[in-house]
Amino acid sequence: MEERFSIRMSGLGGQGVVTAAHLIGMAASTDGKQTAVNPFFGAEKRLAPAESYVRISNMPIHERGEVLYPDIIMIFHAHVVSMGKSYTMPFYDGLRPGGIVLINAEGPHDILPDDMLGLKKLNAKIYYVPATKIALDMAGTDLSSNLAMVGGLMGIVELVSQNALRASIQERFGGAKFIASGTTAALDDVLKSKFSKISQLVEKNMEVIEAAMLQVKQYVYEDLSEEVSNSYIDNGGASSKAALIPSARVNRDLCIGCKKCLMTCPDPNVIVYHKAIKKAEVVEIRCKACGLCVAVCPKEAIKIDYHTN
Ligand code: SF4
Ligand code: SF4
Repeated sequence: MEERFSIRMSGLGGQGVVTAAHLIGMAASTDGKQTAVNPFFGAEKRLAPAESYVRISNMPIHERGEVLYPDIIMIFHAHVVSMGKSYTMPFYDGLRPGGIVLINAEGPHDILPDDMLGLKKLNAKIYYVPATKIALDMAGTDLSSNLAMVGGLMGIVELVSQNALRASIQERFGGAKFIASGTTAALDDVLKSKFSKISQLVEKNMEVIEAAMLQVKQYVYEDLSEEVSNSYIDNGGASSKAALIPSARVNRDLCIGCKKCLMTCPDPNVIVYHKAIKKAEVVEIRCKACGLCVAVCPKEAIKIDYHTN
């Protein structure tokens, strides 16, 4: 019988989303499974949205590229949820009913109620793990947060064996240089520089994984406040946020017309420059709400807004 899992990982540039996918993929191969791993970069820079996709199966995998209908979604940074820094909006779009969401968060309060309601409708199982805190405590660097996220996932569903994960970390950091991009190679070097030997890097990161396996917790829907639950019912069962359309919007009072957002937007003619008033403007109907412009604006003049048309 075919057993398959599709994972979508969303985070910010510099968090090691691509590395986490690569490590899980390599470990799955070591365990004798079929796997396909695809990173996705928009603007490749720190704190811009970053995604990676992993497919694991005991049968040949023919699909490649973006995972549209994941069984598991891993959120590496709270801004993916709270600021819409994601290529997919809302962040759980496409999640299969009964699917798993794992969030890097210290508690359920870090998860937006609106999103919780949409997830409840899907009967999603939501978990959170303090990945950044574990990484800092155990490895002394937040660069190991991605390993803590991998550990959190292993604490929910053992997709790969710990021995295979250990071998993946050893190979990735102790073997030939892995280059998915200049940034991932540079991040590998920074992580290596935090440890005196590769063996220490491997051991510390395995400790991170094991700690995260123990600390991952499931969110209980009963924690939703009555007020929020009532607003859910008033909306005809749809999350208020999920029912609306997201797009970027420029606050003209804050915009200084530097055009950084125009240069960053991955699609043409979505952000235009208003010559008369020297301000940027978003053509909302064309905007896919990826959040890249939000990340680069020096004046916090753009935010992702929800509207009905
Ligand atoms: S990046 Fe911000 S300040 Fe610069 S043009 Fe765009 S909205 Fe205005
Ligand atoms: S305006 Fe462009 S960069 Fe900004 S959210 Fe929309 S598509 Fe993304």
